Amino acid sequence: MTKNFLKKFVQAHTVQNRLNIIITMIIVVLIFSLSSYWFGVKVMSGIRGYVNGEGLWSKAQKEAVTSLIRYASSGNQVDYNRYLSEIKVQDGDKLARLELDKPNPNYDVVLTGFVQGGNDPGDVDDMVFLYRQFGTVSYMHTAITIWAEGDMEMAKFRALGDQIHRLIAMRPAIASSGAPATLSPELASLLRAVYANDSRLTSLENRFSATLGAGSRTTSELLLRLTILTTGVLGLLTVITAVMTARGIVRLDKLKTEFVSLASHQLRTPLTAINWYTEALLSGAKGALSPTQRDYLTELSGGGRRMSALISDLLKVSSLDLGTYKSETAQVRVADVLETVLGDLQAEIDKKGIQVTTDIDPSLPNAKLDKQLLAAVFQNLVSNSVKYTPNGGRVAVSASRQRQNLLIHVADTGIGIPEAQQSQIFTKLFRGDNAKQLDEDGSGLGLYIVKALARRMGGSIWFTSIEGRGSDFYVKLPLYRGLNARPSK
Ligand code: ADP
Repeated sequence: MTKNFLKKFVQAHTVQNRLNIIITMIIVVLIFSLSSYWFGVKVMSGIRGYVNGEGLWSKAQKEAVTSLIRYASSGNQVDYNRYLSEIKVQDGDKLARLELDKPNPNYDVVLTGFVQGGNDPGDVDDMVFLYRQFGTVSYMHTAITIWAEGDMEMAKFRALGDQIHRLIAMRPAIASSGAPATLSPELASLLRAVYANDSRLTSLENRFSATLGAGSRTTSELLLRLTILTTGVLGLLTVITAVMTARGIVRLDKLKTEFVSLASHQLRTPLTAINWYTEALLSGAKGALSPTQRDYLTELSGGGRRMSALISDLLKVSSLDLGTYKSETAQVRVADVLETVLGDLQAEIDKKGIQVTTDIDPSLPNAKLDKQLLAAVFQNLVSNSVKYTPNGGRVAVSASRQRQNLLIHVADTGIGIPEAQQSQIFTKLFRGDNAKQLDEDGSGLGLYIVKALARRMGGSIWFTSIEGRGSDFYVKLPLYRGLNARPSK
């Protein structure tokens, strides 16, 4: 069922569409999660306000009872005044409650009432929010009903207080002397009513606290579940987005590489013909050439060679990136490979008057490697050294054995690599600023290829270089590990 839905979803939308839908979902979930968090925090803060308020309410009620009882026996006006001041707390809360029950409450009255009830003005906003939004719902509704009952009991308590006060006022002698009173039967009966009222209020106060406590627990559980749910959904959507984006990038990269490979193949055939005919004309076999014609053809031939080299690099990069590079392992004599490479570069070496020295360790055994790959490593490193070394400079190539590895070292006295750019030189298409100035031709693919080849052969490449002084490139290849070995780091 889910699988079918996913299949239909994937078929019905483009990648861009799917991403847009998921991103919209992320935004919606995020907004939902933030607002539920905001809502929850307000509710919890409102509940806290009422729990505090209830504490003050109960404390004042208990103290009012104590003061009234003391007044009944002492007849002392101070006790009566204390009683009157305590019951103002309940009056304040009641004022706020009655105002909040109106369709359009006056919030100044509500604030005055709650503050008279001893509540912190900073809590009042959230208390009002909770009352107005949830006053008719669940726990809050029950709590308000209990509160109203409490106010009714308080009205009875107040009436009892009035009656006690009246009785005591009729006996001024007791009131003024402050002597311990002998309770009259009426006073005693009123006090019994006060005790009964107090016990009903205590029960209401307990129920009020318990109801808000339960409401608070339910709200925090709900909040926790919502937070877990939204975080889970957000996490899932983010992972899906990341996977889709990564897959898209990989697919795009593959398509691009395939395109480069196809285009390079298509270019190679006509270029081979151009090069072949250019060389044929230059050789003079098809007739004598004027100096201008020879110059033009020489230019054409140089351009053709560079283009062939570029196409062959592009094809190598594509096949390495696509993992389609075919290689063959064989016994290879390193000195032979280097000799061939130097032979191919001889014209350039001579043209620049560069002194090239080679040093092949005589004890170096034949390696078990792909000859083409080894040739490509030498070719790129040595041609770079020749290219980036000014006329008359020196290039030294050595190959030695280092345990089970072949270590190739190509050193030159060339322009070196600017320190700030050294971290980038193995990046595809990257060319150093000084290299671009010295030689405009260059694709920035050579070192990328060498690194990929070295890794493919289970080896590694590194270098040291000082700008203006020269560079040392090192390649380490396992002599016998063969191909497709795991790249060493
Ligand atoms: P290309 O030579 O076509 O520019 P490479 O990938 O072979 O591309 O080299 C990348 C860059 O590394 C060069 O453009 C150059 O800045 C720097 N580089 C490589 N070899 C040398 C060297 N022997 N001396 C100085 N700079 C070098």
